[in-house]
Amino acid sequence: MTLTGSLIAWGKLSETIGSGAITFSGQQIVNSLVVLGILGGAAMFCLNPTDPNWLYMVIGLSLLFGVMAVIPIGGADMPVVISLLNSYSGLAACAAGFAINNNALIVAGSLVGASGIILTQIMCKAMNRSLSNVLFSGFASVSNEETVVEGEIKPISVDDAYYVLEAATNVAIIPGYGMAVAQAQHVVKELTELLEKNGCEVSFGIHPVAGRMPGHMNVLLAEADVPYDQLLEMDEINPRMETVDVAIVIGANDVVNPAAREVESSPIYGMPVINVADARTVFVLKRSMASGFAGIENPLFYKDNTRMLFGDAKESIGGLVREFS
Ligand code: NDP
Repeated sequence: MTLTGSLIAWGKLSETIGSGAITFSGQQIVNSLVVLGILGGAAMFCLNPTDPNWLYMVIGLSLLFGVMAVIPIGGADMPVVISLLNSYSGLAACAAGFAINNNALIVAGSLVGASGIILTQIMCKAMNRSLSNVLFSGFASVSNEETVVEGEIKPISVDDAYYVLEAATNVAIIPGYGMAVAQAQHVVKELTELLEKNGCEVSFGIHPVAGRMPGHMNVLLAEADVPYDQLLEMDEINPRMETVDVAIVIGANDVVNPAAREVESSPIYGMPVINVADARTVFVLKRSMASGFAGIENPLFYKDNTRMLFGDAKESIGGLVREFS
């Protein structure tokens, strides 16, 4: 189940197959029949251990069940599914440990199983959703039509962004998945140092599900030697946002989407987000007007105090660094 489920998850994430939820009528019935088949085959194999056909049947149906369990889940929820499948693989290893009487396998399997479940739980909590909601009614199955966005897009050039940053005394950087894609963490660190040299206080706002794994941003910023005490969790940075001169959103989208607070019909309504719109000015660094992983519009881009700095995050930040130095 973990093997074929992971292959489908990979296909969805890499968009080799469509990332949307694949559903058909009678899906629950088919899934129930597959589970019953697995249980029945397992029971028959225990009763007739000399007949391997029952085992082949269980293996075949389990491979099928991996596919069936993951296809109805939308692409945005794949990290949660991967973590859950990881946990299943741990449980399988643990069960194998009992079967062959191997303590190392039991202990290692339990650790993988437990940590996978804990990680899954952390992700669901940070998105303010239950596991069953992720597994049975993901973001991608909800239509995006309800989000009506007003206002207009105001692009800004690197030169103009530099002048605003040069005058700023308090800057908050909010990284997201796009920073990881652009591998911009090292230039971000350079920009931070230049801002600080210019007398500006710089902090980072880290959303628990920014990127594609919990701790994704922390790992990238640690790799670039950004001091740990500069990283503020969402609950710490949100009350300070009103005192921030410029909030620089680097390749983040869903985790700064004000629709989560303001638009009740939005699929992400209720998910805690970083309130960047409360800052005096917001720079959003991304390449286009494309939506984030949840596939929904972001009203932040249309707010009066938002300026869009279009382009690859590494190039845009590199441009700012060149202006400063
Ligand atoms: P998003 O996926 O919402 O947005 C990423 C943005 O980065 C896109 O809008 C994209 O816009 C931009 N981008 C991509 N490449 C580049 C680039 N080279 N340069 C500049 N910008 C770029 O990311 P967030 O981090 O805001 O949100 C994470 C999402 O993942 C949430 O929906 C969360 O729920 C989900 N998730 C995360 C988990 C976790 O544990 N971290 C677990 C489960 C789900 P464009 O294409 O226009 O450049």
